[in-house]
Amino acid sequence: MVLHSTEQRILDFVRYSADSDRTELAAELGLPRPTVISAVRKLIGSGALLDVDAAEGRSTAGRGRHVIRFPGPSAIVGLIRWTDHSLRVGLHDLDGTALHEEELDIPDPADGPAGLVPAAGSLLRAAGSLSDHGPAGRRLVSITISAPAPFRRGRGAPRDDASTLGLPLRFAVTEHVDFDDYLSRRFPVDFITENDINLAGLGEYFATRDRAQNMVYLRVNDEGIGSAIVAGGVLMRGAQGFAGELAHLQIDRDGPLCPCGGRGCLSNQLRGMMAAATSQAYGRPVGYAELSRHARDGDAGASRLLADVGRAIGQPFGQICTVLDPEVIVIDATDEAVVAGIRESFAIFAPPAIAHNVRFRTSALGADAEVRGALEIPREAARRG
Ligand SMILES: [Zn+2]
Repeated sequence: MVLHSTEQRILDFVRYSADSDRTELAAELGLPRPTVISAVRKLIGSGALLDVDAAEGRSTAGRGRHVIRFPGPSAIVGLIRWTDHSLRVGLHDLDGTALHEEELDIPDPADGPAGLVPAAGSLLRAAGSLSDHGPAGRRLVSITISAPAPFRRGRGAPRDDASTLGLPLRFAVTEHVDFDDYLSRRFPVDFITENDINLAGLGEYFATRDRAQNMVYLRVNDEGIGSAIVAGGVLMRGAQGFAGELAHLQIDRDGPLCPCGGRGCLSNQLRGMMAAATSQAYGRPVGYAELSRHARDGDAGASRLLADVGRAIGQPFGQICTVLDPEVIVIDATDEAVVAGIRESFAIFAPPAIAHNVRFRTSALGADAEVRGALEIPREAARRG
């Protein structure tokens, strides 16, 4: 059967989606409902898709809410979450439910994509055992790699040909290698590498029903700070994969060198500020994770310092939002004092028209945002056609 582009988009979207009805498909793909109804009828007629009674869970021509489903074993996706401190792998169904989770040894960044071969092998073995023993069978359709650094798809790390500094490999993804191509050639599944904050931002964006056209997502936790930008309904990755890298805004031109090759980046400034402010009171430098614990235990000094961290983020963040003018800002931060500090500073440094009208939201998904983002990447391609 020759598929028209509308039919192909519907097929691609349904392949990576839990059950949707025709109205939801029309809304997701931005198509008129009659167009969707006609295309779905053709796809069902040819056996490419199934019409299922949502209440009964079986093919039927009766009444009730009918959903569209891809035939065969239900799809699952893999996610490799690589941070500076851990490597966790998981398998998820199309609702995001975890079917398998495992923690593995952190690869040496110098090994590049080869360091992820054991993690990929482990996910394929786990997926194999699910498809052997699952009641309806499972089919692994993609593995997403969540990378803790700027990453340019199809090329790897942003190239910095001018750098001769020989900086230590502190960015986990430092190789100018196409991770997706390297791994997809070795395993019978597609790999998709994406920056971790971009994945989380994409997940948060599609988790809300009233999707604003312009959203900025901000995450602050013990791994660091980062932001993701959705402009005009599209995730902005930038030419080098650097879009949204709030951590690497230069705050102090004479500040310490950063693994990105820049100087005086915001993330370094915050680390230095916390170390300097805590050394005397605690007898040693204390970082974000421990400060958060102290603040939760009622330590007023820790809360005060975390509010200062929030204010230090809120100034450049407010200025970024002046340029981007988002309708919505989603914040995922582990500490309330940080959020209060960000909002206080934001109100000063963003123009009143933005500061008064932007909607602040707390993250709806928290740690699950990256899983949702991994599910949304292939759906995003189908939405855009
Ligand atoms: Zn930097």
